[in-house]
Amino acid sequence: MTELSPARTRVAPSPTGDPHVGTAYQALFDFAWARRTGGQFVLRIEDTDRARLVEGSEQQIYDSLSWLGLEPDESPVAGGPYGPYRQSERLETYRPFVDQLLADGHAYHCWCTPERLAEMREQQQASKQATTGYDRLCHGKTAEQRAALPGFQPTPVVRMFVPDDVPLVFDDLIGGELSAPRPDDQVILKADGFPTYHLAVVVDDHLMGITHMVRGQEWISSTPKQILLHQWLGWQVPAFAHTPLIRNTDRSKLGKRKSPWAKLSWFREQGYLPEALLNFLMLLGHPPVHEGDDVQSLDEFVQHFDWSRINPAGAVFDLKKMDWLNGHYLRELSTEELTARIIEFEAARGRALDHNQRAVLSHAVPLVQPRMTLLGDALSAIEFLLTEDDQLTVAEDARASLPPNAGEVLAAAFTALEHLTDWDHEMIQANLREALVDGLGLKPKVAFAPVRVAIAGSKVSPPLFESMEILGRESSLRRLVGLRETL
Ligand code: GLU
Repeated sequence: MTELSPARTRVAPSPTGDPHVGTAYQALFDFAWARRTGGQFVLRIEDTDRARLVEGSEQQIYDSLSWLGLEPDESPVAGGPYGPYRQSERLETYRPFVDQLLADGHAYHCWCTPERLAEMREQQQASKQATTGYDRLCHGKTAEQRAALPGFQPTPVVRMFVPDDVPLVFDDLIGGELSAPRPDDQVILKADGFPTYHLAVVVDDHLMGITHMVRGQEWISSTPKQILLHQWLGWQVPAFAHTPLIRNTDRSKLGKRKSPWAKLSWFREQGYLPEALLNFLMLLGHPPVHEGDDVQSLDEFVQHFDWSRINPAGAVFDLKKMDWLNGHYLRELSTEELTARIIEFEAARGRALDHNQRAVLSHAVPLVQPRMTLLGDALSAIEFLLTEDDQLTVAEDARASLPPNAGEVLAAAFTALEHLTDWDHEMIQANLREALVDGLGLKPKVAFAPVRVAIAGSKVSPPLFESMEILGRESSLRRLVGLRETL
């Protein structure tokens, strides 16, 4: 195999809200390629659009990447040799490049007021002009010359002077040869002196030594402008990898409003494990590393990761697969680990378990683990074990399901267990079987149903005899009596 040169990749989210799952998806590819080539994965915060900043969003970005185990090598918090990694702290960086572009004639000042630009756009639309975009009224003019015309504002923006022969085709590691529409004379410096995204991204990617620009396909149309800027400034153009858009199974876009799973925080709140989400993201667009087996570790993914294997046609977000993977990873955990994760999960949603409840949980985890899909399933399944006997409520449907001889069954069960000294599930089962199946001549399926309702308050529960063992003798007997008295 040819030696791969160390790549420097980056994910560059804007802290404008709850991080999108696409950010983690791209970070995964960045991480994989950087690891595979022995390079570095950088996290840069693109916060120059001050109006759109959302407080706490930057922290959420760090938290969610770290939750997933996609720790950047360089970032605003980790630091690194190319800092600062937050664009708002780099504002002086961009100006000299704007001056250079102005001096070289690749950029020009534009004094047009927003009103004039709006009017221009309206006219273009009304006359169905073929070429739309900025009409270059300001190009080649001094401030004085321009001031003599209408729609002038004294503080200019700076625009790119996009040549007629701007290359519109470029190579993409995922999509192959891609083409984009002709760009407008993009603003690169705003009137307030802040660079726009297009300038900042190019300057920072260059100064940070980024070799691969990995981002969503929605940025394809920006690529020709950014290539131009790299070329004008005499810089090497990085490689591009535009990742397929993530879609729902019905092909709809994964928007945060309609699809809550578009938000990274959703997965944690729902009780998904980070390893399951990570595995799920690996399978979005990239075939499994072992054919026919969806389960893979991050290490395996890194070893086999290849841009050319990514399907550019799209990544389908199949929540059923996500659930299946989560169940798989939940079952992989040791009892101790799973117990700890459940405790942490419940605490995060405001349910702190005391010492006794934790002890019950750790005994009950092996009973529920085989059937769990989400972390929260554990407590809902064993709530009856954490409830005081006199607080246990019997569900309507469970009560309605009781057979006419339920009283008799409960009485026989009580007698069978009353003097049982070795309180373990095998003995419980043997004694109940003897009393109810052999003694009363009931079929096993019917025999234990009233006992289950008495113990768990519902028709379904984790394995009954094991549950009774955990609950203990006193409580179990009390519950048998308790239900009987209400019949
Ligand atoms: N700041 C841009 C975003 O929020 C980054 C786009 C890019 O990666 O070039 O998605």
